[in-house]
Amino acid sequence: MHASITVTGIVQGVGFRPFIYRIATRHNLRGYVRNRADAVVEISLDGDEARINAFLESLRKEKPPLARLDSVQVEYSERETGLPQFTIEHSSQQRSKSGSVIPPDIAICGDCLKELKSPNDRRFGYFFITCTNCGPRFTTILGTPYDRPNTTMVKFPMCPNCEKEYRNPMNRRFHAQTIACATCGPRLALLDRTGTQLDTKDPIREAGRLLSEGYSLALKGNGGFHLAAPTLQDAPIARLRASKERRNKPFAIMARDLEATMSFADARSIERELLESYVRPIVLLHKRQPFPLSSLISPGLDSVGVMLPYTGMHYLIFDSTSEPALIMTSANAPNQPIITENMEAIQRLGSVVDYFLVHDRDIAQRADDSVLRCLEDLPTPIRRSRGYAPAPILLKKSRKIRSLGLGAELNTTACMILANKAYLTQHIGDTETIETARFLQDAVGHLQTLIGFQPDIIACDLHPKFTTTRIAEQISNHDGLPLRRVQHHHAHAVSLMAEHGLDEIVGIICDGFGLGFAGEAWGGEILVCRGSQVKRTAHLEEQPMVGGDLATRYPARMVAGILRSEPSIQDWLKANASHLPHGNEEIPIINRQLEKRDFIWTSSCGRVLDAVAAILNVSHERTYEGEPAMKLESVARGDGDVLGASPEVDGEFIRTTKMVQEIYDQRNNIATSDLAASAHTYIARSLTEAAVSAARSEGIKTIGFSGGVALNERISLMIRRLVTENGLRYVSNVAVPPGDGGIALGQAYLAAIE
Ligand SMILES: [Zn+2]
Ligand SMILES: [Zn+2]
Repeated sequence: MHASITVTGIVQGVGFRPFIYRIATRHNLRGYVRNRADAVVEISLDGDEARINAFLESLRKEKPPLARLDSVQVEYSERETGLPQFTIEHSSQQRSKSGSVIPPDIAICGDCLKELKSPNDRRFGYFFITCTNCGPRFTTILGTPYDRPNTTMVKFPMCPNCEKEYRNPMNRRFHAQTIACATCGPRLALLDRTGTQLDTKDPIREAGRLLSEGYSLALKGNGGFHLAAPTLQDAPIARLRASKERRNKPFAIMARDLEATMSFADARSIERELLESYVRPIVLLHKRQPFPLSSLISPGLDSVGVMLPYTGMHYLIFDSTSEPALIMTSANAPNQPIITENMEAIQRLGSVVDYFLVHDRDIAQRADDSVLRCLEDLPTPIRRSRGYAPAPILLKKSRKIRSLGLGAELNTTACMILANKAYLTQHIGDTETIETARFLQDAVGHLQTLIGFQPDIIACDLHPKFTTTRIAEQISNHDGLPLRRVQHHHAHAVSLMAEHGLDEIVGIICDGFGLGFAGEAWGGEILVCRGSQVKRTAHLEEQPMVGGDLATRYPARMVAGILRSEPSIQDWLKANASHLPHGNEEIPIINRQLEKRDFIWTSSCGRVLDAVAAILNVSHERTYEGEPAMKLESVARGDGDVLGASPEVDGEFIRTTKMVQEIYDQRNNIATSDLAASAHTYIARSLTEAAVSAARSEGIKTIGFSGGVALNERISLMIRRLVTENGLRYVSNVAVPPGDGGIALGQAYLAAIE
């Protein structure tokens, strides 16, 4: 009897062929297994039927931990091929299936970590130690099938010892494509800031020593460069912050281990599990008070982003320093993708860091670290990248139309929908620059090739000036494909429908800015969505953004607009003029702009929170996305019921002026922590009231919360509780970010509905 089997899913780069080899020989079957260029694994078996069935059972039950089987297709025939034994064959270039994909990068496994630390092991202290169960994948793969010649390891021919392990079916590195050792694998070098190599026998130990002494380093990892610095002293971090764009932006840190993490942050069991998972994402944790590390890590915030070491190099660095944690943040120039090349790093970072720890393996695909925040029991992605991409998200509903969504402008990702799977690219970033736009195009092209995907339709934002819109128009013109322009907040709402398999939802969608259907500036919307239809039933009261984008940068301008009828506002502006770039001279300009109605109206939730942050003296300038609102959330630890204002939903308007006015009136009488908490309570209650009333009148049972504000713990948890108390179902994003990193999923899903 002969069986010809094709397996799709994540089956290359996860030790799948060695596993097939072992179970086939165990069941006394003959034939072969091989990888194909469409990322599918093909198995050919000769033997009696009972043995083949036993093999198939083992295949499903014992599959390697990182493998994911989406389909196993078996065709039987009477005629055997007559192969004398079972072998792993050379890969074939055949491509006939789409949807299989190579795995994301995987953190170092326990077995490799043990060897790394065993003086008798031949890989003792080797920074690029990996096996079939661990190591980089997506970031090393140039093309499929996933074989060494198609990876960045191609430059490193195996030494006889590695070769022996690679060929031995009983070895745990049998066919491990990233196999390497100190003799044959990539090597490290320590460079000074001019790029001159330092003469040292042990670059990692030396790097650890330099970090302990307060120097900063740029480290080349698997998916790009990190900036690294010690965390106990202020001076090195202050130097990293010297550039304007990094003035306040929180830096992620890498902690030595979980114990060290618990010394400066609180981590609940769900957060500890995430930290230790093989994805090793950055998890946003509440700081312990008093915070024992430098306050410059995440200034003005009560949270800190923490990850644990995930490569041999990270562990070795911690072995040579006593720091409990290190700054470990993506190295990139403003609005540029993460740096991947040694020369570029030296050119761009030579004035920022003191030393470079680099290796000589190329980076095939960039991958920034992923970031999550647990909202109670719901791990919510902030950035979905390393460890997740390119593994698909399984959708509850399958789509016939294949669609490609290109995202919005900030924190962009692109998304491809193929049947019941959504494939998102790694985090691309803000697509305003040519470099990031090119990165987006490359990442889309690479993922398309990996999964064998050709779209039937393209989707993009309504905003005509977004780079992503322009790219979508180009693809649409070039390939003669229809283009679906999706309203920004509608896309957020549909991302919830896609994740949860819903046909209808009332969406509470709050963020900083998205273009409305008639070109308005939206950002606090109640949307009723049915299938591909959308209706805006309510929204936050429109407020003037005096000076347009300047009001986003300097929240005092929002205050001037919202409280334009408050008699004492001129005094307040004068008292706060030092926070405006032109000081007192700017006040008459603001007044004139108000008088001449030289402003745009916005229903943005972010802008209202920004205004409250300015009134409460918590933040006066937005130097990074979401800064004033994030700082406001950080101080909102008090009593959320001190305001007299109860939610005021007036037809389609969810009023905000009265709340802001009351906070202004009480700013010197009531504690900041209470007033900040109360602003959150007011926003959450009034949004929920409007959403519940829409759900009742439309007969919809589910309310979802998305948009960047959904990452606000206080507002999210309150909306969730209130929705549930009203007997309705609450949903939020758990597979993609609620911010703009998840918008491509909504765009693509909507385009695939029709
Ligand atoms: Zn391993
Ligand atoms: Zn070797």
